[in-house]
Amino acid sequence: MPTATPKPVACTIAGSDSGGGAGIQADLKSMEANGVFGTSVITAITAQNTVAVTEAQPVALDLISAQIEAVLSDFPVAVIKTGMLATADIIERVADEMEQRDGYPLVVDPVMISKSGYELLAPEAVATLRNRLLPLATVITPNLHEAGHLLDATVRTEADMRDAARTLFDMGPAAVLVKGGHLAATDDAVDVLYDGTTFHAVRASRIDTPHTHGTGCTYASAIAAHIAHGRALPEAVRQAKAYVTKAIEQALPLGSGHGPTSHFF
Ligand code: PLP
Repeated sequence: MPTATPKPVACTIAGSDSGGGAGIQADLKSMEANGVFGTSVITAITAQNTVAVTEAQPVALDLISAQIEAVLSDFPVAVIKTGMLATADIIERVADEMEQRDGYPLVVDPVMISKSGYELLAPEAVATLRNRLLPLATVITPNLHEAGHLLDATVRTEADMRDAARTLFDMGPAAVLVKGGHLAATDDAVDVLYDGTTFHAVRASRIDTPHTHGTGCTYASAIAAHIAHGRALPEAVRQAKAYVTKAIEQALPLGSGHGPTSHFF
């Protein structure tokens, strides 16, 4: 029997979305659609649909560690991505695990609040995220709101985004991608990537749709996938931006709220 060529492997450490549009479910679909085998470590379970998150519970710390050990001890993981981490204790545990296993490129999506307004990260855990996880990251992918919370500042314009990227870079990550999808009244959706020396503006046309549930997870996972393929970060981000733009264009009007991004088109 012919054997298939193995794909690169990625691992997402994130929360489950029962609605299938965001979180672990979006991550795995985005990774697979971008040519990478996705493995997962579930940090929290949410009950949610396209309208609301109605409940969320964290997974026990030792079960999170056991999932990390099971995946990393067996699979040739080329990149790790984090999403919803829920509590300061979980961030501490994930940071401890990453420090013990130095060498994995790490994409940190600093997930804080869902579009429907539910707190996916305890507010008091933002300082832990800043102090423990940011310094370990290859790239962090905050939106305007998350960048604002990490910095205790307001990030509203493209100039603010560049300032935010510079200040966040000084907190230790190797690169910062500030996502401008929520910028007011612009024709383009512009993101700013900063690696300590160069700013790259990553642009795509803004798509007018309410169906954007899971966009951030999809984007960060696509970046992770392109890193797993061996692409340099600016190219990985450009390819992921093109992918997430199509995923939003093709988003599915499922449910009565914000429908999920599509992954296979
Ligand atoms: N649920 C989970 C588990 C997530 O990780 C995220 C985002 O990262 C969301 C929900 C929020 O998705 P959105 O803000 O796109 O609705």
